[in-house]
Amino acid sequence: MDDNGSTDSRSGEFAIIERHFKGITQQSGVLTGIGDDAAVIKPDAGLDLVVATDSLLAGVHFPDETRPMDLGRRAMSVNLSDMAAMGAQPRWFTVALSVPRDIAVEKWFAELSHGLSDIANQIDCALVGGDTTCGPLAITITVIGQVPSGTALRRDTAKIGDHIYVTGTLGDGAAALDMFSRGDATSFCERLFEHFYAPDLCINSGLLLREIASSCIDISDGLVADLHHVCSSSRVAAEIDCSLIPIHAQTRRNYPDQHMHWALSGGDDYQLCFTVPERETESLKKLIFEGLIHATRIGLITAGDGVTIIDSSRGNRCTHQTTDYLGYDHFA
Ligand code: ADP
Ligand code: MG
Repeated sequence: MDDNGSTDSRSGEFAIIERHFKGITQQSGVLTGIGDDAAVIKPDAGLDLVVATDSLLAGVHFPDETRPMDLGRRAMSVNLSDMAAMGAQPRWFTVALSVPRDIAVEKWFAELSHGLSDIANQIDCALVGGDTTCGPLAITITVIGQVPSGTALRRDTAKIGDHIYVTGTLGDGAAALDMFSRGDATSFCERLFEHFYAPDLCINSGLLLREIASSCIDISDGLVADLHHVCSSSRVAAEIDCSLIPIHAQTRRNYPDQHMHWALSGGDDYQLCFTVPERETESLKKLIFEGLIHATRIGLITAGDGVTIIDSSRGNRCTHQTTDYLGYDHFA
């Protein structure tokens, strides 16, 4: 009997795996799935494999009170963001779970599994294995994707003269965290809640950008911090115009003092920041016009190093110190 008075809500590890993880996604390209010591998968001939892992820890990457369904959606979405940034088609994933004994009941696993499959099945990504242990709440997902050989998007390939773009709108991740931290019903905003737990899947944008972009990164730590990574690995500089940064009208309105800072450094947006050579800008504009990619031009790659922020609405005066925007470092 569990704390809620129902019977049979707590099961052994193997029953949990069988009930809540096996069969929750389609299994394309899977020769041996959940149940053996390891999965056997069959990549398509001539394609490169792309692998990414991300861990989400309670209290660090999501609020302690997060519902299991939302945790599943967020864990899957943020992992897929790395695939999008590489221009990869996600095919398979594994889930390593550490769950405290007091919440490890059937209902919790059922809801988590629902959240994971909700996102994974939108893009036909197959769950092929994992690990289930008892401990502090944490979830680690490893995603494996594919790209035609040699076409993965990278962050070290931006060139001087390339234009800088971002997808979607920025600042919503930080606005959502602010909303959670206040915890009052009046500040509740469904759009921000949804954005935090199920950020836009940019997979299709990544696939289209393989043909067009010279470099790409996903914005997980904040625009300036992530663009900084592109600049240092590509040995170039970036100049962005903060008046061009796309920020949702509701976020601008509700957070008149914070929205720009959040758009530059907030993190948790999981949009793409990419660079496009001048010769490809017409192709990109066509994709934007056809509604296949939602992207906004925000600046230019230049010679030198670091990210410079200008504000053309204030006569190009530099109103921001980029050192204020270098994002979150777990060990700093
Ligand atoms: P082993 O002891 O050989 O490491 P486990 O007992 O941990 O195997 O897991 C048994 C099977 O269940 C494996 O195929 C493993 O990949 C799968 N599995 C365990 N936990 C999960 C999970 N949370 N999600 C998906 N598959 C899982
Ligand atoms: Mg194991």
